[in-house]
Amino acid sequence: MKHFPTFFTLQDRTVAVIGGSAMALQRIRLLLQAGSRVALFARTLEPALAELVLEGAVRWQAHSVRQANFAGAALAFVATGDAAEDAVATELARAAGVPVNVVDRPELCDFIMPAIVERGPVTIGISTGGASPVLARSLRGRIEAALPARLGALARLAAEFRDRAKAAIAGATERRRFWETVLEGPVGEAALAGDESGARRRLQALLDGGAPAEARAEAHAGAVYIVGAGPGDPDLLTFRALRLMQQADIVLYDELVGPEILDYVRRDAERVYVGKIKANHSKSQDEINALLVAHARAGKRVLRLKGGDPFVFGRGGEELEYVRRHGIEAMVVPGITAALGCAASAGIPLTHRDHASSVTFLTGHTRDGELATDWRVLARPDQTLVVYMGLSAAGKLAAKLLVAGLDRATPVAIVERGTRPDQKISTGALSDLKTLADRHQGGGPALLIIGKVAALAKSQSPEFNALLKEAV
Ligand code: SAH
Repeated sequence: MKHFPTFFTLQDRTVAVIGGSAMALQRIRLLLQAGSRVALFARTLEPALAELVLEGAVRWQAHSVRQANFAGAALAFVATGDAAEDAVATELARAAGVPVNVVDRPELCDFIMPAIVERGPVTIGISTGGASPVLARSLRGRIEAALPARLGALARLAAEFRDRAKAAIAGATERRRFWETVLEGPVGEAALAGDESGARRRLQALLDGGAPAEARAEAHAGAVYIVGAGPGDPDLLTFRALRLMQQADIVLYDELVGPEILDYVRRDAERVYVGKIKANHSKSQDEINALLVAHARAGKRVLRLKGGDPFVFGRGGEELEYVRRHGIEAMVVPGITAALGCAASAGIPLTHRDHASSVTFLTGHTRDGELATDWRVLARPDQTLVVYMGLSAAGKLAAKLLVAGLDRATPVAIVERGTRPDQKISTGALSDLKTLADRHQGGGPALLIIGKVAALAKSQSPEFNALLKEAV
């Protein structure tokens, strides 16, 4: 190990900064966040630094630094922007026994600055031992993406309850288990989802419950996460979906959720297929509801993984209502619905200043098989219609729209397996909708897009998609 990693307390300690450059400013901002007193030595200042001096946040002396100036300093940062001046300041700091960091001169440094990821009190420092700052930055990007945005809130909650948990739960091992289940279970998830007061209330209730055994049992109580998996491309999963997929004990997934997506589910999670291929339901909705409740009652974190968004033609509403009615903790995570995924990957803007001022999502597959709606409203010209589950009813749908007055030449597009590598797009006119739809029968899930914007569709060949994948 080239450098020894530590986190250093600088609260109320003096740190000497030599130089008034933009790099010095960057360091000073961090130092102020850490609560240190900054003593700045520089003949000229960046405007933003001058502001900090005027505000009284930084003590400035407008002369070159002398050895005596380092007395009592915990650390020194040198960033004059001039190699000779940097070297002189470094010598002086070292002679005064103060560890020094020189910006962009690793060979002169006693300590180096890591790349930092911050979430409230949670701080991650990344060092490549000076090998490659660019690599450190790229790692930081990956860690930034992997960590929930509200991790800081969760850490603060844990800090707030730390003493209380210590008083309530005697054994160190028991306490560790308690915290593991709290942080990784419904309490933690509520905090990460922004429901801090809910998380606090639940955590308090666990501790009020008194006996640690009971508290643990409750912290273990299962929960149901109704999660949208998007239209098929795993890159379109949300961070929250991905996190819950990696925590789940069991996943109940639909026909629309392909193996590419399931690959991201925690490896030892149990997988249950509950797909509903039309007229060949492997599980009825009642059976699915009952399974969700039964598994949550058994203390499992149940992931209900659905194609697209759970609240768009996904019956997520019914499932949510059912599990809540049975007293189970539940949360809904939105996903990119097929209309948005297909629109983007087919190059069809759903609204457009010249062609469509509104967009309507409808289904071609209703409970009673009737497409009862006000067709005159849907047949107005400057809007976009997106029809889910519309292939079989395409002929009927086109007829209704034509009778209601929509132009025969209105552009239509059919997007099959949108966002997936084997996506297929057909385009034509409303009068051909049935013929077009027949070509897609028996293929993957397909969406009908009706309206002037459909003429903007770019047909993307499988080759194009392959290239796109490689580029990413
Ligand atoms: N909740 C889902 C929709 C479920 S209904 C969502 O928000 O997307 C199922 C219908 O969605 C399919 O019949 C099809 O019309 C549409 N669909 C889902 N994924 C699709 C995809 N990748 N490409 C085209 N249509 C899709």
